[in-house]
Amino acid sequence: MADFSAILIEKAETGTSSRLTRIDEALLMPGDVTVQVRHSTINYKDGLAITGKSPVVRRFPMVPGIDFAGVVEQSSDPRFKAGDEVVLTGWGVGETHMGGLAEKARVKGDWLLPLPAGLSTAQAMAIGTAGFTAMLALLALERHGVTPAMGSALVTGAAGGVGSVAIMLLKKAGYHVVASTGRPEEAAFLKALGADEVIDRAELSTPGRPLGKERWAAAIDAVGSHTLANVLAQTRYGGAVAACGLAQGMDLPASVAPFILRGISLLGIDSVMCPIGTRKAAWQRLGQDLDRAHLAALTTHIKLDHAIAQAQAILAGQVRGRTVVDLA
Ligand code: NDP
Repeated sequence: MADFSAILIEKAETGTSSRLTRIDEALLMPGDVTVQVRHSTINYKDGLAITGKSPVVRRFPMVPGIDFAGVVEQSSDPRFKAGDEVVLTGWGVGETHMGGLAEKARVKGDWLLPLPAGLSTAQAMAIGTAGFTAMLALLALERHGVTPAMGSALVTGAAGGVGSVAIMLLKKAGYHVVASTGRPEEAAFLKALGADEVIDRAELSTPGRPLGKERWAAAIDAVGSHTLANVLAQTRYGGAVAACGLAQGMDLPASVAPFILRGISLLGIDSVMCPIGTRKAAWQRLGQDLDRAHLAALTTHIKLDHAIAQAQAILAGQVRGRTVVDLA
């Protein structure tokens, strides 16, 4: 069988090691559909997997890459045929099943979606798991009944992947968008994406009071920990916060005060096992709502040989917006 380029994570004497190598197709795991990966990405979780900083990978060896877009090479699933363009996010790919940071992937047909109309494989991965998650958060806020008429919307981790797409989506939905960032030098970039105000993340990242001044009606939080606690404490009466990330920490040192005194809601967002119907709705809306020029502006393209360095950079908070890995 033919071999191809891949990032491979293996168990090391202490922890894990990652390298760019060539692997044989026989190393891929069982699946109905073999895909020639054209584009993958570096998400925060890929950073954790590649550097071994968190136990994201639960099988070795592992090809990381929690998402990819490409062209079907071979399929025994009647829903897909050779030549079809497809996209995949989540389902444990890059964690328990060989992932997208390789020129080929073999996966279950159930995990694939046809590439949404109007998006190229590169654009689908510029969105990637991060942008898809931002859309899941917006859909959750809308389902909850929060509207721009109720007040502004906050985005934390604003210059990151989830954050930068969230700004674009909330702006398009009609919100006055407040972006919280630790990188004041990115203020012009965030405003170009649609942020109306940029605040210093230090305002939110240290222990705060159980209730603060009511500042926003909606929030998309990629940060967790004290930041999420303060976001909740400063959400307006009846508002909602969609929590999707842990860039500051996994803890939530909060009180019940915002829930029982202001009736606010905390909405949990998971992209990995998200049901297929919600996935389709989210991708359709992404294809419809995202400004392609803005999407291009927040995307950096790299080759596979730069993936390990980029994984280290994303954990160090040095990556702006989204990173697409070109494999074609
Ligand atoms: P990025 O690294 O691109 O963005 C994270 C951003 O968080 C950084 O850019 C930075 O923004 C901010 N940040 C980093 N460290 C800290 C800190 N110590 N304190 C406060 N803010 C910090 O990652 P992604 O956008 O890809 O992912 C964001 C989070 O969402 C991650 O925790 C990820 O695991 C999670 N996630 C969850 C998903 C789900 O299904 N629930 C799916 C996708 C992502 P700035 O420089 O602007 O301050």
